[in-house]
Amino acid sequence: MIRCITNGIVLTMNSDREIIDSGAVVIENNLIKDYGSIEEIKKKYDFDEVIDAEGGIIMPGFINGHCHVSMSIFKGIGEDVPDRLRKFLFPLEEKLVDKELVYKGARLSIAEMLLAGVTTFVDMYYYEDEVAKAAKEMGIRCIAGESTLNKNTPDSEIPYGGIDYAKSFIEKWKDDELITPAIAPHATYTNDAEHLKIIDEISKKYEVPILMHISEMDFEIKMFREEHNMTPTEYLESIGFLSNRIIGAHFTYMTENDIEILKKHDVGVVHNVTSNAKSARVISPVLEMREAGIRVGLGTDGPMSSNHQDIISVMHQYTKVQKINCGDRSKATAIGAVEMGTIDGARSINMDDTIGSIEKGKKADIIIVETSTPNMTPLYNCYSNLVYSAYPSNVVFTMVNGQVLVKNKELIRSNLKEIINDSNGLKDKVYSVVGPQQ
Ligand SMILES: [Zn+2]
Repeated sequence: MIRCITNGIVLTMNSDREIIDSGAVVIENNLIKDYGSIEEIKKKYDFDEVIDAEGGIIMPGFINGHCHVSMSIFKGIGEDVPDRLRKFLFPLEEKLVDKELVYKGARLSIAEMLLAGVTTFVDMYYYEDEVAKAAKEMGIRCIAGESTLNKNTPDSEIPYGGIDYAKSFIEKWKDDELITPAIAPHATYTNDAEHLKIIDEISKKYEVPILMHISEMDFEIKMFREEHNMTPTEYLESIGFLSNRIIGAHFTYMTENDIEILKKHDVGVVHNVTSNAKSARVISPVLEMREAGIRVGLGTDGPMSSNHQDIISVMHQYTKVQKINCGDRSKATAIGAVEMGTIDGARSINMDDTIGSIEKGKKADIIIVETSTPNMTPLYNCYSNLVYSAYPSNVVFTMVNGQVLVKNKELIRSNLKEIINDSNGLKDKVYSVVGPQQ
């Protein structure tokens, strides 16, 4: 089956950053077969189906490199208070996180992501099999990592139970086209060296990514300084844990030496500015990391931390926060933000050979962003409009692996009403733990 998305501006994000003003993209089954000017493409092919982009931007889908999708059910609880983690999050997770909540919460976030043009996400949580199931059913691409911690978790009655869970989870999903299973040591301060070694061996044996929170918390920095006289990054290097299989989230508290270490071991970095800013953390040296040649993408973090799961908002805030930080409006450019939301995001998770740009032979993960609304008019430069003007709701069409999942701003494979009702149906359980919320 050969289809064509035509009548739009093709923003390829290929290595030349080629943009075709009146362009079309040809899709054969689940792959991008060709792209070019409308005239050129019309001459070369006969199509089974034509999709009219109506002048919108036809571009690669966004990549959300770090999230905890199921926490969408807790979104908006206990905001703007100190020590929210211990007061709200831990009791909620301890009492409520089960297969049903993980599945329903994942569906809610995936719906939000697809409607906002996210075509791949990277998740770490508990009962990760339910996240993988929800992603597979809804048709989104995902790296799903089962969390491991040095204490009991909602899906394990023993510390580090996530390791055994991850092994069977990886076995189950390892050959799936959409789902890449992974193992996710929760953080530097919740996994010891002995277990990180086991996790690294699992990652090597099955050739799966390792997802981890690194250098995120102030207490984490203090703890490693006191116990090892090192930064968390220096410590991970000292135990031989760092490799290009790691997709590390945050890296907010960083030294120059940390940046050199990440480059040396080719560690993937995911920057979560909307979450970091809301948690009043320091600003991650993203520009320095990019300049050093480190692979850096963007993520939202969990819905309790950032309250949204789209990448358009992250791109927007990334540029502004970095500009304030540098005191220089020429830093953190719009094109840089779109790179991190697409092709560099793909590089940060080692998937740039298959996704992240519109190029021949890549997977057909394609979105259309409308340009006919007041906020997107006029359009002189796609990158500027996408980063400084666009709302997630400007995404009109989302295709993953050649499957159309959003058309005319509506989910077409999944039932959005049912997803919303299922999520609201869990509110009483949440109230039973945290009491009335104002
Ligand atoms: Zn996180």
